[in-house]
Amino acid sequence: MSKMPYSEPWRIKMVEPLKTLSREQRVAKIAAAEYNLFNLAAEDVYIDLLTDSGTGAMSDRQWSALMMGDESYAGSRSFLRMKETIGELLGFPYVLPTHQGRAAENVLFSATIKEGDIIPGNAHFDTTKGHIEYRKAIPVDCTIEIEEAISATYPFKGNIDTQKLEATIAKYGAERIPMVIHTVTCNTGGGQPVSMQNLSDVAAICKKHGIPLYFDSARFAENAYFIKMREQGYQDKSIKEIVKEMFSYADGMTMSAKKDAIINIGGFIALKDENLYRECCTYSIIFEGFVTYGGMSGRDMEALSSGLMESTEFDYLEARISQVEYLGKLIKELGIPIVEPVGGHAVYVDAKAFFPQIPQTQYPAQVLGVALYEEAGVRGVEIGTVLADRDPVSRQERPPKLELLRLAIPRRVYTDNHIQVIAWGLGEIWKKRESYTGLKITWEAPIMRHFTARFAKL
Ligand SMILES: *Cc1c(COP(=O)(O)O)cnc(C)c1O
Repeated sequence: MSKMPYSEPWRIKMVEPLKTLSREQRVAKIAAAEYNLFNLAAEDVYIDLLTDSGTGAMSDRQWSALMMGDESYAGSRSFLRMKETIGELLGFPYVLPTHQGRAAENVLFSATIKEGDIIPGNAHFDTTKGHIEYRKAIPVDCTIEIEEAISATYPFKGNIDTQKLEATIAKYGAERIPMVIHTVTCNTGGGQPVSMQNLSDVAAICKKHGIPLYFDSARFAENAYFIKMREQGYQDKSIKEIVKEMFSYADGMTMSAKKDAIINIGGFIALKDENLYRECCTYSIIFEGFVTYGGMSGRDMEALSSGLMESTEFDYLEARISQVEYLGKLIKELGIPIVEPVGGHAVYVDAKAFFPQIPQTQYPAQVLGVALYEEAGVRGVEIGTVLADRDPVSRQERPPKLELLRLAIPRRVYTDNHIQVIAWGLGEIWKKRESYTGLKITWEAPIMRHFTARFAKL
């Protein structure tokens, strides 16, 4: 008997109609948006792959949990349920809700990071990096080397290189390192997982040097799925068992609940140390709100608790990650180069290889993003030279090694027919790829230019 194909462990109870524009209308819309996909009205997008953050579809359980929200200022029942869920599922006794992931970073780092500190990790997420640098501390990327990781078969591209980590600790001294941050999954290459072995090895190093280890946990459930599928010894363990073991190696965690808790807004900090929790409470009150709501409504905390239980079910994760893999497979079959292996939440198309005739200073990944919108109404996002910004001192362009178009898949939102449309659109562009030319920037902000830059076709 052959293996049953993957399919969604849910059916659709409510639908949100999408507007479909003609190609001519889309060409006009993106021209009016001055070729910046952030300037489009979301309504004019057919399939929106800008991000998987806060864009997931809640279940009937989550929607009904909303009605159970206790909006009390202090001691809300919804908070107690959230704390209990996090305690049972992840093993942390102390919990502080925050309005989203970066707010969790803000509160935790206010209590732990000071000027001149060194924060090793695996390709820190941009807001994490931002909150570290804002405090005049230095993030040090200790991700395993690209040479090793570029191989299509390497299963855990998100791992921290333990030798690099040891060398970083030796170089700066443990006193300057208030924490190591392990991001699960790691954003490099679109949600590349970290192995249990690596979490355990990194924890051992941290323990030896007396350095706390925190997980940036936005996509922890997707990471657990990869451990089950790829790491020896975990095939027969449930996702919830794997998740429990993962977090047993951490002193604490920050979470953007907009990802693997499948809610539209929210986050939290969870900790094992009571003293640190008490310190964080002060910053929570200043920045977020009282410690039992911290910027979240009671109803959202209810939906978060339900979402955490749902996202740590194997069937959900299998359908979710298989859909992302399916998109990668369809694109690859067309001969289009992508980053491999495909990660948990997104497919990254290699725009430099797609448009070799367009130099990086003419933004090939932006060109591809615009073309995909024109062709199929699909909105991806540029992860390339535009995003990399200019050098703050010389003001020169600093093209990154990889020039990518990211296609992030929202959770439980699109069907495999949508996935086929995305691949079809890329295929149409691929057929006439030689006819495309670059873009130039006609206006840009001094930093974070990608959100607001205006472009013109060359
Ligand atoms: C999204 C994300 C954050 C920031 O969370 P927000 O909810 O967007 O503030 C931090 N780290 C990782 C790994 C993320 O994916």
